[in-house]
Amino acid sequence: MNEQIMKVNNISVNFGGLWAVKSIDMDVKKNEILGVMGPNGAGKSTFLNVLSGLQQPSEGYLVIGTQKISQSKPWNMAKLGLSRSFQTVRLLPELNVLDNILIGGHMDAEKQAWDILFRTKKYRQREKELISRAENLIETLELKDKKYEKISKLSTEERRRVEIARSLMTQPNILLLDEPCAGLSPQETEEISKLILKIKEQGVTVILVEHNVKMIMSLSDRIVVLDHGQKIAEGTPDEIAKHEDVIKAYLGG
Ligand code: ADP
Ligand code: MG
Repeated sequence: MNEQIMKVNNISVNFGGLWAVKSIDMDVKKNEILGVMGPNGAGKSTFLNVLSGLQQPSEGYLVIGTQKISQSKPWNMAKLGLSRSFQTVRLLPELNVLDNILIGGHMDAEKQAWDILFRTKKYRQREKELISRAENLIETLELKDKKYEKISKLSTEERRRVEIARSLMTQPNILLLDEPCAGLSPQETEEISKLILKIKEQGVTVILVEHNVKMIMSLSDRIVVLDHGQKIAEGTPDEIAKHEDVIKAYLGG
């Protein structure tokens, strides 16, 4: 439980003079759910963007295994074992659930036009593998009866599940979730929470950004709190709930 899987070292992101993220240090431990909390504009999404290679840090680096990473692209991060879902769900509405999930399988693939164009044996082999992986995820995320349904016909909560399944197609060691329960009812939030625990049980480390304090407190093994781009607290949910700076940040102090 205590084995370190990633180290975040002095990561900062500057947007034209504004430090959206400032000098963040943290360790991510194998198979934990690490909650990232903070008021609106605290830098949570920007921080996840750095971890997923969508945003280059202005300063700092990550260490994953023996690799030190200061600049990266999403497909490199996927290869290194990180995958994310987005705050705004970006699925293809006219394609069905299975096809949308399958798309996730190409996030870490080298583009091999030749293989795809001529549907070579290697390509067909990979396709078969991806389909079986997608079928398993459809099972895990309880989407069996929606497999051939178009995304446009699904509820927000069902779309979130498809999005999570799609992120898991690259078989990440670390799954990054940005507000998976935004806009969901308490029952739907409960459903997604259960699935996040199930994913953890399957050996995936989860970094969870969530606005819903109750949900993040009950799911996380550890929590890091950001405010104005900086880490203001770190600890178990119990420690965080009692932390003065956290209470102040949430009260808008
Ligand atoms: P959170 O996800 O915690 O609500 P964000 O990471 O989205 O916070 O934003 C942190 C800060 O950075 C905010 O002040 C936001 O306005 C700013 N910001 C985010 N993205 C950009 C961008 N692409 N360009 C300029 N400023 C940005
Ligand atoms: Mg955000």
